[in-house]
Amino acid sequence: MTIKRNKIAIVTGGGRGIGRAIVTRLRNDGAQVVTCGRGARPQDLDESVLWVKADVSKTEDAKRIVNAALELGPISVLVNNAGIQVEKTVRDTTDDDWCCVVDVNCKGVFNMCREVLPGMTEGGGAIINLGSIAGIVSEPSMAIYNASKAFVHSLTRSIAVDYGPTVRCNAVCPGWILTALSESAFALAKDPAKAKADALARHPARRFGRPEDVANTVAWLVSDESEFVTGQCFTIDGGLTVASPIQPGLF
Ligand code: NDP
Repeated sequence: MTIKRNKIAIVTGGGRGIGRAIVTRLRNDGAQVVTCGRGARPQDLDESVLWVKADVSKTEDAKRIVNAALELGPISVLVNNAGIQVEKTVRDTTDDDWCCVVDVNCKGVFNMCREVLPGMTEGGGAIINLGSIAGIVSEPSMAIYNASKAFVHSLTRSIAVDYGPTVRCNAVCPGWILTALSESAFALAKDPAKAKADALARHPARRFGRPEDVANTVAWLVSDESEFVTGQCFTIDGGLTVASPIQPGLF
């Protein structure tokens, strides 16, 4: 289930968390990987990985990331992983919150797809977008984050339909994967330890996700093993969203 060696892959936001696990997995599978983030190159990033300091929400930065990858050759994989979260209801959401979340989670994904699609349409390729269970069921107090991920799911289907013969486009929808982003969400709970214990109990898998759980699915979706799979959103949540709302242990 490995990707063809020497594929050129862009993974946005590969400095940490899920993005880093995807970078590592694709590199181990033989791809040449380009990644980005808004800060300096992380010191522990493998030296074979090309780092571009860039903000995907900016059109010019998206162009720079794609041009850097094109220097290596035709791009056959794009993983739109960079994303941010603001934990607020609609009433509390400010204009700045709106700009942050929508610019990165929606416009960032759009920018990157628009830049890679011309070349990818010629040579063929796979785009994987990081959606979320939050785009399917609503996490409390995360209104525009939830909506931004529903946008990602919809854009995924549109790209699959419009570029079908040569480009496959799928989304992965993680549940609670333990990273800086999910830990910051737990930290906002009235009782973070209780919130975490309650969330854990609701997972049939009885564990939270690991970044590698997402990277494994991405590796399959960029491989030829999934060549008839496009326009789909794959939930990776340890069964959280299929469980009945009745708290486990009460029966
Ligand atoms: P982290 O916050 O741990 O990592 C996010 C990465 O994206 C960082 O490297 C960050 O680097 C980068 N990034 C953020 N904004 C930008 C930007 N504008 N341009 C370029 N890079 C950017 O998040 P996770 O690893 O947890 O999440 C990764 C993706 O998975 C996100 O899209 C998230 O919404 C999604 N997801 C995560 C879940 C979870 O439970 N963790 C659940 C469902 C979905 P920097 O800040 O330095 O720019």
